[in-house]
Amino acid sequence: MYTITAEESFDSAHFLKGYDGKCANIHGHRWRVLVTAGAEELSAGAQTRGMIMDFGDLKKALREETEALDHLFIVEKDSLRRETKDALSEEGFRIFEVDFRPTAENFSKYFFDRFYERDIPVLEVTVFETPNNRASYSGDFRTAQAQGGRHDRI
Ligand SMILES: [Zn+2]
Repeated sequence: MYTITAEESFDSAHFLKGYDGKCANIHGHRWRVLVTAGAEELSAGAQTRGMIMDFGDLKKALREETEALDHLFIVEKDSLRRETKDALSEEGFRIFEVDFRPTAENFSKYFFDRFYERDIPVLEVTVFETPNNRASYSGDFRTAQAQGGRHDRI
């Protein structure tokens, strides 16, 4: 299997609701995101001959997805009172609400799904929360294609 990997990072704040420890408080990370795409055979197309896909397209997609979360306060849905959210918004703070606990594990799945929706042959996404701690989510793009359904991925 051939693979290519692109890397980007973004800065954002989060906290873990219901966590007993430091991460219960608002804090920030430089999140590093690595996306790996793969194929058994390389493209025969004129432009992409000898490639899995154009590196530029993978980098562009990754940049767009990470920039969409850059310098935001990422909040799990229903983890802040409405008045708190309204007050933060009135102060001009930008909140990005997600329907999952904002852990590195969940972000790796979030990005995997985003690339999958873009028809990128994604195999794995790794998210570094700190320089030493990372989480990954992997799936098989080919399996989903063979099953004929974009949402049948295991
Ligand atoms: Zn954190």
